[in-house]
Amino acid sequence: MPKKETGRYDVVIVGAGPAGIFAALELTGIGARAGRMKAPKILIVEKGRDIDSRNCPMKLHEISCAACSECGLLSGWGGAGAFSDGKLNLSAEIGGYLKDYIPGPELAGLIDYVDGIYIRFGAPRRYYGGDQARMDDIAREAAKSGLLFVRSKIRHIGTDRSKGLLRKMRRHLAGKGPLAGKVDVLFESEVERILTAPAGATKADRSKTGRLIGQPEVRVGRDKAVGVRLKDGREISARFVILAPGREGSKWLEQEVKRLKLSTVNNPVDIGVRVEVPAPVMEHLTEATYEPKFIFYSKAFDDKVRTFCVNPYGEVVKEYLKGIWTVNGHSYAKMRTPNTNFALLVSTIFTEPFHEPVSYGRHIARLANFLGQGVIVQRLGDLQCGRRSTAERIGRGVCSPTLKDATPGDLSFVIPYRYLSDIIEMLSALDRLAPGVNSGHTLLYGVEVKFYSMKPRLTPSLESEIENLFAVGDGAGVSRGLVQSSASGVIAAREILKRL
Ligand SMILES: Cc1cc2nc3c(=O)[nH]c(=O)nc-3n(C[C@H](O)[C@H](O)[C@H](O)COP(=O)(O)OP(=O)(O)OC[C@H]3O[C@@H](n4cnc5c(N)ncnc54)[C@H](O)[C@@H]3O)c2cc1C
Repeated sequence: MPKKETGRYDVVIVGAGPAGIFAALELTGIGARAGRMKAPKILIVEKGRDIDSRNCPMKLHEISCAACSECGLLSGWGGAGAFSDGKLNLSAEIGGYLKDYIPGPELAGLIDYVDGIYIRFGAPRRYYGGDQARMDDIAREAAKSGLLFVRSKIRHIGTDRSKGLLRKMRRHLAGKGPLAGKVDVLFESEVERILTAPAGATKADRSKTGRLIGQPEVRVGRDKAVGVRLKDGREISARFVILAPGREGSKWLEQEVKRLKLSTVNNPVDIGVRVEVPAPVMEHLTEATYEPKFIFYSKAFDDKVRTFCVNPYGEVVKEYLKGIWTVNGHSYAKMRTPNTNFALLVSTIFTEPFHEPVSYGRHIARLANFLGQGVIVQRLGDLQCGRRSTAERIGRGVCSPTLKDATPGDLSFVIPYRYLSDIIEMLSALDRLAPGVNSGHTLLYGVEVKFYSMKPRLTPSLESEIENLFAVGDGAGVSRGLVQSSASGVIAAREILKRL
């Protein structure tokens, strides 16, 4: 089939999640750099739909997941962040690995910068975690139970407010409003291939290198990016390509990285459960920090267990990840349930000869789906007594599940002993800090799995071994949250602006 040329751009961005959007905002001069150069010609290619056309049949018609070819919840303007809870974690320790690429003070400045842009587009000014005396108290109490308290400032946008914020960014990048930048966007268009050519650069350029902090050197310049090809065969030329496909596109990115013979870095997999308790049990912690983060090393296995994504007065939700159901949680700015939920996750890095952590995590989640026809819920008391939960036992509990279509069952048939033992130990440690967490009525939903995207080797400006090809956000394994994914887009954009 003859290839149609759709245009020439300075920069093509693959994916309209926070990483792609922030790259575009920076390239169009939202920051201090505005107005000092001719605006670059930018195209964002997004396989999902525009913000107001995104929908999910499951939510609209209250049916079970229709397994759409493009998931309206994860794809489209705003990416996976659009319907997310919108908790901005303003700590370099949380939500990504940018500290492996750029020095701490620089990263702190970048996080403040990104936070400022979120505020400008509608994030509330209020943040949690600023009361140092209370933070000290929590850290002290946590230490007595063998828990490490990770301090962080958090700004909560809320799932219901996120959409308006993303709509404003869309309008801004569509060239509407004062100081607005102009970016072309192709929706419902999937990038299939990254186009490269032998680098015709000078010898000096070819030997350009970058070093990840504590990692071997990344040698850039064997080939250079020249554009992308879409699934329908159209080709787009570009001087620079930024890949920001998120977790939704991580499988695709992995295939491209293999095809282009780029080197990669090993990744862990996080496996665990979502815990749900009556909100008052955690209130003294969630009021002080919104999302208390604790790390615990289990006695039996010396595994790292951590709390993740705490949702005060929130609800537990099911998440469809290309063929499997897992759990997640939300909380809303204007709607409250009587419960608080959070994940307890155990990280594992497999060693030789096994190198398929994503498949391992998917197998465990699939086992839960197989036994429970979806997500399984169990009372902690039932798990400890070695019996399954039933609808009747859960109905008698003091904590009523917010996820209504989870199947009462037995997680010990699904989750390996090592992980269950780690989780039970951590619940016991947490109970000293938040009495009631380790109650027999506490609900555990399984399985929650967090996959880390395969990480291509990148320079500190997030350029790959292919010249002018940048990889940012969750899909490239450099972030795991809104703030660091957004910041990674800014890093790549700033490097491109220097070269433009
Ligand atoms: C339910 C849920 C709740 C969350 N809550 C929070 C939270 O409260 N706080 C927080 O910090 N983080 C949260 N997150 C995580 C956060 O949403 C992500 O870290 C963030 O969206 C990652 O941004 P990204 O731009 O890297 O990728 P994404 O947001 O995933 O965007 C990638 C985009 O690229 C598109 N794409 C992929 N492949 C292609 C291709 N080949 N061609 C064209 N387009 C492509 C996808 O359709 C998608 O729109 C949550 C995530 C989920 C799912």
